[in-house]
Amino acid sequence: EYAELSIKDIDQVAKRSFPLCMRHLFDKLREDHHLKHGGRMQLGLFLKGVGLKLDDALAFWKVEFSRKVGADRFDKEYAYSIRHNYGKEGKRTDYTPYSCQKIISSTPGVGDHHGCPYRHFSEENLREALAKMGVGGRAVEEIIDKKRNRHFQLACTLTFEAVHGASCDAGINHPNQYYIDSKRILE
Ligand code: SF4
Repeated sequence: EYAELSIKDIDQVAKRSFPLCMRHLFDKLREDHHLKHGGRMQLGLFLKGVGLKLDDALAFWKVEFSRKVGADRFDKEYAYSIRHNYGKEGKRTDYTPYSCQKIISSTPGVGDHHGCPYRHFSEENLREALAKMGVGGRAVEEIIDKKRNRHFQLACTLTFEAVHGASCDAGINHPNQYYIDSKRILE
């Protein structure tokens, strides 16, 4: 069981403890007030996994989507799938957050922001994203090298280590594990 994540802390926590795949979706949502289906699923289930309660999740997505499509359309077209992710609609399956393997093997199309940046970003975009996370110098070249050799999770592990100034011996296998390990170090 994870500690609860509340909306008032979410921006600060995203900056400090989200892996790049989730940080990217989070920033895009704040910027565009919208995410396509694949992004809503990847980020939404991650947030559920790190302890964002259903009511908070509805409020969180509504604030952004309302600015783009209006509150009515949000209630009609998007709220259902959020409740669905929490097992409150349809077959009432309690969906689990995606693993790195699943995210890495996804195939984001044009306008999609889901996927794993270590795999799906160009080198140039990855360098930019790493700079935004405060990763610089030799670490960047090591991360790019891992990307080139298709060791995406190792690239993520190196990023984790650079951001936290601590080693991550187990490696990164799941975005929610990245979050838990980060919180453990920072708190
Ligand atoms: Fe996300 Fe996993 Fe890719 Fe890291 S390796 S960015 S946690 S999918």
